[in-house]
Amino acid sequence: MIDLWDVYQHGQIAELQASQSLNNLNSIKNGETLHKEVQRLESKIDGLALICQALLEILQEKTKISDAEIEQKIKEIDVRDGREDGRMTGKVSPCPKCKRPAHSRQRTCMYCGTEILDGNAVEKSLIPKPNLHIK
Ligand SMILES: [Zn+2]
Repeated sequence: MIDLWDVYQHGQIAELQASQSLNNLNSIKNGETLHKEVQRLESKIDGLALICQALLEILQEKTKISDAEIEQKIKEIDVRDGREDGRMTGKVSPCPKCKRPAHSRQRTCMYCGTEILDGNAVEKSLIPKPNLHIK
C-alpha cells in the first residue's frame, strides 16, 4: 500500500529542494549584482576624485589659495549637515510648499513635486534627472 504520508513528504522535500536551488541562484545573482554595483560606485568615486584633483590643482595654480584654506572650507561644508564626519550627506527639512519632509539631495519634493532649493549642486548632480518621457 502506498503511504500517502510518504508521498506527501517526498513532494514536500522536492518542493523545498527546488525552492533551495532557486534561492541559491538568486543569491549568486544578488552577489553578482552587488559586485557590479560596488565596481560601478568605485569607478564613479575614482572619476570624482580625478575631477576634484584637477579642480584643486587649477585653483592652486591660478590663485594663491593654501592647503589650510581648502581644509578650512572642507570642514565648513562638512558641518552644514549637522555632523562633522568627513562626508557631505545632505539634510531633511520641510518642503517649502507642502511642508512634508524633503531631502536636500532631491531635486523635487517626492510628495508635491516642488523644486527643492536646499542643498548644493554636487549633491543634486549625484541623482539622475527624472525621466520626463510620458507615454
Ligand atoms: Zn512638497
